[in-house]
Amino acid sequence: MPARNILVINCGSSSIKFALVREGRDDFILHGLAERLGANGASLRWQGETDEQPQTLELPGADHKAALARLLPLVAQAAQGKLHAIGHRVVHGGERFTQASRLTDEVLSAIRETSPLAPLHNPANLVGIDAAMALYPDLPHIAVFDTAFHQSLPERAYRYAIPEPLYREQHVRRYGFHGTSHRYVSHKAAEMSGLAVGDSYWLSAHLGNGSSTCAIANGQSRDTSMGLTPLEGLMMGTRSGDVDPNLHSHLARTLGWSLEKIDHMLNHDSGLLGLSGLSNDMRTLEHAREQGHANAALAIEVFCYRLAKSLASLTCALPRLDGIIFTGGIGENSALVRNLTVKHLHVLNLELDGEANARCVRGVGGPIHLAGHPRVLVIPTNEEKQIALDTLAVLD
Ligand code: AMP
Repeated sequence: MPARNILVINCGSSSIKFALVREGRDDFILHGLAERLGANGASLRWQGETDEQPQTLELPGADHKAALARLLPLVAQAAQGKLHAIGHRVVHGGERFTQASRLTDEVLSAIRETSPLAPLHNPANLVGIDAAMALYPDLPHIAVFDTAFHQSLPERAYRYAIPEPLYREQHVRRYGFHGTSHRYVSHKAAEMSGLAVGDSYWLSAHLGNGSSTCAIANGQSRDTSMGLTPLEGLMMGTRSGDVDPNLHSHLARTLGWSLEKIDHMLNHDSGLLGLSGLSNDMRTLEHAREQGHANAALAIEVFCYRLAKSLASLTCALPRLDGIIFTGGIGENSALVRNLTVKHLHVLNLELDGEANARCVRGVGGPIHLAGHPRVLVIPTNEEKQIALDTLAVLD
C-alpha cells in the first residue's frame, strides 16, 4: 500500500497549527500556523518541504473556518490530492476516551460534554473539528486526546483525597495532559536504547510553556504531574504549578480577591513570569541570569528544583528506571535547566556529560549522561507525528 497522508490539526482559541504528515516519515510535507483568528491582523504562515522560507498571507477578519478554507487547498495540493484522513488534537477526553476515536455524532457530543473540564481548550478544538468536517465531509476525521495516554493511571495515582461523591458525581480526579508527547518520547527512548517498549521504564519531562512530568512503565502512563487541569504540578511559563490549596481562601479573605482574579493570577501571571517579574520565556531568563538579574536566576532555580522534586517523587510509580527524558522547547534546548535539575538528583546517581549536554540543542537529541551513570536522554518531541500515527491506527 502506498504511504498515506494525514493532516494534523491543532486548534487553539485564536490559532490553528497544522502539519501534513506522510506515513513512515518524521518530517512534514507541509506545516504552518494561522494565528490571531477572530481578531485584527489574522494571518497564515506555512512552509512546504521544498520551500527555503516560510510563506505568509494576511487573512483580514478571518475566523477558524475562513482560515481552514484557505489552508486546506494548500494541503490538498501538497498531498497531490491524496489526503487520507484528518487527525484532530483534542485536549480533554475525560474518562470516556482511552484512545483515539473516529469523530461520529456520538463522539462529538461526548467531547462537548467534557468541555466543563477544559473550558478554554475543548470548545476551541471543536470549532476546528466542525469547520474541517464541513469542508471535508467525506474524509475520516479522528480525535486524538491529550488525556487518553494517562487513562492507565492506577486509582491510587488519579484520586484526590476529597469526598468520594465529588469524584463519582463531578468527575473530580487527576487526568494529566501532554499524553501525546510523553507517549512519543518514551517510545523513541526505548528505540534509541535498544529496549522493548513493553519492557522499559522511563521518567519524562515535557518542558515548554506548559510543563509536566510522567512515569511510564512498559509503554503505559503510571503517574503524571498535571491533574484535573493543567495547572497542577510543575512551575511553568505563566502557571504557578502546585501551591497550597488554601491559597484561594487566603487571598479571598485577606485581599477580597474574586475566584476569577485568583484563577487568572495562577494561570497567567505566575510561574517563570511571576517569580522573575521579567518574562515567561526561558531564553530571556537565561540571558538575564547571565547579566546578574537575581530574580531571573531565582525563577530558574525554583523551576529546576521543583522539576527534580517531581521526577524524584515519580520514581515511586516505577519498579526500575531505564532513563530520564527531557523534551519540549526548554527540555530540548536548555542545557542549563537540564544541568541544574540533574544536580538535584544525585540520590539517583545521575551525572551529565557536559559536552553531550551542550551539544543537544535545536533539534539535536541523544544521550547526555556520563558513562557508567543512568541514562539521561534529550528527545525532540513530535506530537504531530504521534497524532498521525494514532490516526492511522484508528483507520487500520
Ligand atoms: P514550547 O512551549 O515547547 O514551544 O517551549 C517554549 C519554551 O521553550 C520557552 O520558554 C522558550 O524560551 C524555550 N526555549 C526555546 N528555545 C530555547 C533555548 N535555546 N534555550 C532555552 N529555552 C528555550
